[in-house]
Amino acid sequence: MIDSLRKNCGLPDEELMNILESDLYDNALVYEADIVRRSVYGTDIYIRGLIEFTNYCKNNCYYCGIRRDNKNAERYRLDSDDIFKCCSEGYSLGYRTFVLQGGEDMYYNDKKICSIVYRIKSAYPDCAVTLSIGERSKESYKAFFNAGVSRYLLRHETADEKHYAKLHPNEMSLKNRKRCLWDLKEIGYQVGSGFMVGSPYQTVHNIISDMHFLKELDPDMIGIGTYITHKDTPFANKNNGSLLLTIRLIAMLRLMFPHALIPATTALGTIHPLGREMALKAGANVIMPNLSPFDIRRKYSLYDNKKFTGTESAQSKESLEKMAESLEYRIVVDVGDVKRL
Ligand code: SF4
Repeated sequence: MIDSLRKNCGLPDEELMNILESDLYDNALVYEADIVRRSVYGTDIYIRGLIEFTNYCKNNCYYCGIRRDNKNAERYRLDSDDIFKCCSEGYSLGYRTFVLQGGEDMYYNDKKICSIVYRIKSAYPDCAVTLSIGERSKESYKAFFNAGVSRYLLRHETADEKHYAKLHPNEMSLKNRKRCLWDLKEIGYQVGSGFMVGSPYQTVHNIISDMHFLKELDPDMIGIGTYITHKDTPFANKNNGSLLLTIRLIAMLRLMFPHALIPATTALGTIHPLGREMALKAGANVIMPNLSPFDIRRKYSLYDNKKFTGTESAQSKESLEKMAESLEYRIVVDVGDVKRL
């Protein structure tokens, strides 16, 4: 079974379901995933400096702490100088990728985004700029690409229409989310997608749909994080997702997508003190520590108790290096592009 996953030859749904619903295969999955990861990326772990530059959002996703209707969220926006300062600090710390992430905030129109990106790329041509600012038109994506953005992260969150409708208000659609992902691919971005594990109403069939969709999209980056609830959302009383299922899925995705850049997400570090270490052992090879100014970090609160200090902080690179070494990996100063086989 595991061998079939590794060869990415597509297991029947019943077999995927067997693996997803049992802890019987976990040790073998993690063991094999580590072998595959080492065969493509060696012991390298890529680090990305994450700059959360706005927590305004026009959307109202039911699970998200910075949704439009959360009146308790303290809103902020960083200007070009603030963002540039983060990049300068990140560059001296050894970061060679900057991830500009924000809610869907139309205050940052194409012109503003392009000028910020152009400024970063002019000063640091050896660095990659990744954007993660949600759904935009194909024209906007083209403009960002031409300004120097080479990667775009946009999780599909769930590939099942009915499940999508339970997580999002009517004005949002899975169809448009997928349209964005295909547009990004066509333009030439390295594309990242992914989903939440254990989001409310998720079934094992939904997760299998996610795997099918990822296979079809064949993204360069796959980000999955355990769902963690936020007290100021309509899902305040829902349960968190399972750490063990997330780790199992990371290992399965590594076997199915040997080339993929897979982050050990902050959500994993939040749900368990060793969550990110477990993810790295299961095939994850990217860490995205927070490079935003300290005073705004707690305000980018997508879910409760989100970590932004210690090894979640870009400034703690030495601790990150020690953590990686303790697992027999190595943090590298590298732009960290995808390695397609
Ligand atoms: S998940 Fe993204 S699009 Fe949805 S409310 Fe949060 S920031 Fe906005």
